[in-house]
Amino acid sequence: MSDNRYDVIIIGTGAGGGTLAYHLAPTGKKILILERGDYVPREKANWDPQVVNVDAHYNTKESWLDKDGKDLHPHTNYCVGGNTKFYGAALFRLRREDFGELRHHGGVSPAWPISYDDLEPYYTQAENLYQVHGNRGEDPTEPAASSPYPWPAVSHEPRIQQLADDFARSGLKPFHVPVGVMLDERNPTRSRCIRCNTCDGFACLVGAKSDAQVVCVDEAIKHPNVTLLTNALVQRLETGPSGFEIKHVRVERNGKIETYSGDIVVVSCGAINSAALLLRSANDKHPRGLANGSDTVGRHYMGHTNSVLMAISKCPNPTIFQKTLGVNDFYFGSDDFPYPMGHISFVGKLDAITLKAGAPAIAPNFTLELMAKHSLDFWLTSEDLPDPNNRVTIGRDGKIVLSYTPNNLEAHARLQAKLKQAMKQTNCPIHGHDCHQGLFGRNLYVGQRIPLAGVAHQNGTIRFGHDRNTSALDVNCKAHDVENLYVVDGSFFPSSAAVNPALTIMANALRVGHHLKSRMGVSTEVTARDREIALSR
Ligand SMILES: Cc1cc2nc3c(=O)[nH]c(=O)nc-3n(C[C@H](O)[C@H](O)[C@H](O)COP(=O)(O)OP(=O)(O)OC[C@H]3O[C@@H](n4cnc5c(N)ncnc54)[C@H](O)[C@@H]3O)c2cc1C
Ligand code: SF4
Repeated sequence: MSDNRYDVIIIGTGAGGGTLAYHLAPTGKKILILERGDYVPREKANWDPQVVNVDAHYNTKESWLDKDGKDLHPHTNYCVGGNTKFYGAALFRLRREDFGELRHHGGVSPAWPISYDDLEPYYTQAENLYQVHGNRGEDPTEPAASSPYPWPAVSHEPRIQQLADDFARSGLKPFHVPVGVMLDERNPTRSRCIRCNTCDGFACLVGAKSDAQVVCVDEAIKHPNVTLLTNALVQRLETGPSGFEIKHVRVERNGKIETYSGDIVVVSCGAINSAALLLRSANDKHPRGLANGSDTVGRHYMGHTNSVLMAISKCPNPTIFQKTLGVNDFYFGSDDFPYPMGHISFVGKLDAITLKAGAPAIAPNFTLELMAKHSLDFWLTSEDLPDPNNRVTIGRDGKIVLSYTPNNLEAHARLQAKLKQAMKQTNCPIHGHDCHQGLFGRNLYVGQRIPLAGVAHQNGTIRFGHDRNTSALDVNCKAHDVENLYVVDGSFFPSSAAVNPALTIMANALRVGHHLKSRMGVSTEVTARDREIALSR
């Protein structure tokens, strides 16, 4: 085998690519991982809200275009570990019903070509791999699982516990959000995670967040058969004359063009960049873009309807690690609105510096500092539906164009109203009835839908399905039109559901990895080396 020839080439090291690399590394196959970014440097600035949230120091400086041709500065990260380096590590399974067709107020959320039961074993593996902390059975919409979470849930701090009690008293079923942080609350002196206030949106300075770099890529490259090239931007995939097989992967690295070839090529650049890569790889046999016989590549972009809603109360909120509480009571609807609304949880605790960047309206008699001290910072997610006109295309100068018109917005408005109602029912134990009145009177909700540049939950642009006329990938996430091309990032989602996407991307990467091992004729059993690496953690 020549130096530039590999059994498997994986492009991208995020939730999809990183997880797949980890899974395939013990096979002994010659694997090349190509990542356009570099390692996030470990430095104090990792945890500096000014540097991270205001200066956007670690975000890409690339600019895209929106549908009106205006510059769009995406909040996305090109680095080893992809966006998981900065994610909040809330690691949810989709609900069983999300795999079937669901009628929403704004239209239909289509069925997936696989069922929850098909993905369940891989969800369990992904939860173990990413050390998810959670309590089974608390979340009323949680699907059945074949084993408990590997770690107990991250505990609520007092203000959040008080809110959970208040919500429970009013008939809701609040639960502990499953999170991938390496926190050992029973053994704090040895715990890798120190439970800090700069987690969601920040890279972990002490390597205690279960991100794809720490958990997967760092482990994968311990195997001598695995090579990682950073600062390696894949520009184009080139097929042979038949068009059925990728022959060359064209890479720009350190200002030079390099060419690699692989028996199997796996694209995992994130839903927007993967679609862009396939579209840029158009050729005579694939005039609309590589693997795009169905004309679905780039279409059906989804990213959730998300908003941050700050509830300001008289009581301060001194919580450090806030992302522990979730409410899914309205996920599938309610008596007065029989359509799915979505999911309520928290962002990391907002501080005054970060608030300056988001510039919410100032609550009467509050400064930004006071607001930050008194806010409960909710994160609301509703499902957006796959619209073929919401799409990634390539525009002038080869720039990515992201065209998106929000849909299913009534569901989100209803979800916001439900949270407002639930907050009004809270009763503060410290100030008694007076505080409760004050809380009512002075509660302020600053709702701001996350704008288009917030592409954190991007998915759907290279959907999988049974029918090659309506999907680009088959059920194993292999391109219908190209025999050695797979896609394992968030692109494959036919619908976006309303919980955070990363665990589903990880679980699916493990599922596709299982298929690839069979295709390559290697054992799908756990190897001794796998065990050795797992034990060395
Ligand atoms: C601030 C923030 C908070 C989040 N919080 C959560 C959360 O709590 N829970 C959750 O489930 N999800 C969360 N997400 C979303 C989650 O991070 C993503 O869903 C997940 O990382 C997507 O995985 P992916 O493999 O599709 O893509 P990515 O993780 O984005 O990985 C894509 C990789 O491909 C590389 N790449 C791109 N183009 C090329 C190219 N041409 N050549 C070579 N390499 C390329 C990129 O540099 C990147 O490393 C959050 C995201 C952000 C930004
Ligand atoms: S809370 Fe834990 S995992 Fe998150 S950044 Fe802090 S130390 Fe790292």
